[in-house]
Amino acid sequence: MTVVPVRETLVQVDGVTAAYGGLSAVTEASLRIGDGEAVGLIGHNGAGKTTLMNVVFGLHRPVSGTVTYRGQTSERRDATDSIKGGMAMVPADQFVFPTLTVRENLQIARSNADSADADWAEERSKELFPVVFDRLGQHAGSLSGGERRMLSVAMALMWRPKLMILDEPSLGLAPALAERVFDALRELSDADGVSVLCVEQSVAHLLRLVDRVYVMRSGRIVDEFTADALRARDEYWDLF
Ligand code: ATP
Repeated sequence: MTVVPVRETLVQVDGVTAAYGGLSAVTEASLRIGDGEAVGLIGHNGAGKTTLMNVVFGLHRPVSGTVTYRGQTSERRDATDSIKGGMAMVPADQFVFPTLTVRENLQIARSNADSADADWAEERSKELFPVVFDRLGQHAGSLSGGERRMLSVAMALMWRPKLMILDEPSLGLAPALAERVFDALRELSDADGVSVLCVEQSVAHLLRLVDRVYVMRSGRIVDEFTADALRARDEYWDLF
């Protein structure tokens, strides 16, 4: 039997309801991310995953409910506060500057970061994503989808985040490349204690990374599984 360690709470989401105008997208969602824990959020298109992720990051103000991060519950935390507090976000698209070179993208990311953190990030990224550093002079727009995703993770690491939030990292990637991205994220979580909130549709990829998974349906969190419980299943389609 696997013993699941009890971790201190890094993020606590309590009863969050979020909407676009009058249309509800998330209803009374609650979740917890432990310090150093990797947590997944799965569900069909339109289930509310991205909206909930944006609420956690401070990009979307909820109608009601609270997000507590590192012990602080703030009604007014925005994305800038989140970044300063050690969160990093890798969105599903538009995550690099395509007309700039890989080197320039990395320079922009490190320009606002503490130089010791950025040095750590570059060293770590070279180990995890060497292919990106073989292409420093190449325009980011000419990278493959997987290479772009790796570059965007490398850029997000520049602030040495406590929590990385990722929206569908496998989107558009060949399975082998997606596996490399998920394995690298797992290594960051294991070796560097980076906590992760990962929105994803591919349960198989997600299970390379996460310790626990929440299932969203029609704006609500309807289920929660440990990764081991999910691995014991033959199929995943009935989860959603
Ligand atoms: P997907 O996997 O397709 O990205 P999701 O689970 O991330 O879906 P959300 O993107 O959070 O779901 O969308 C939840 C609901 O909110 C959907 O009904 C969607 O149409 C709606 N929605 C999302 N963004 C907006 C927006 N900017 N304006 C209006 N409605 C929106």
